[in-house]
Amino acid sequence: MQRAQFGPWEIEYDREATQAAYAAMEPCEDGCNCQGCRNYLANMPFLPEEVRQFFDSLGIDPAFPFEISAPIPPAPWEGPLYYNSVYYYCFGRIVSGPENEIGTCQCRHSVNKDFEYAFGSKCYWLAEEIPKEQAIQIEITITLPYRLDEPYTE
Ligand SMILES: [Zn+2]
Repeated sequence: MQRAQFGPWEIEYDREATQAAYAAMEPCEDGCNCQGCRNYLANMPFLPEEVRQFFDSLGIDPAFPFEISAPIPPAPWEGPLYYNSVYYYCFGRIVSGPENEIGTCQCRHSVNKDFEYAFGSKCYWLAEEIPKEQAIQIEITITLPYRLDEPYTE
């Protein structure tokens, strides 16, 4: 376990256990095929360095989000898409900091103008790889360019 301050949260976390859990995850073949989700995943190789570092410091592979809410606004399709809730998990616990309710994070911490995160101890979309009682939920908001070779229609 390591201890570190992330914005207003002090957390204790196990980077190696989280890394191992994400490494064991298989790309989900029956995952959501919507344009929002496909565009999200298409952006993963192009994340800015500071966003990549945030995920890496926790041991999270950003290519394996647990839940992606539909991006807004839906138009214009050629513009960047704003994702207001994408969820990840890591092994650890919150030592101190604000508690957030799902989807209504009052307290987010900005990494750059396109990326914010919030930690929470209530976990909603956990897969079997990370047991609920050992997990921290990370809810992010992110703005990403549109990278699909098709008009955005959703
Ligand atoms: Zn989707």
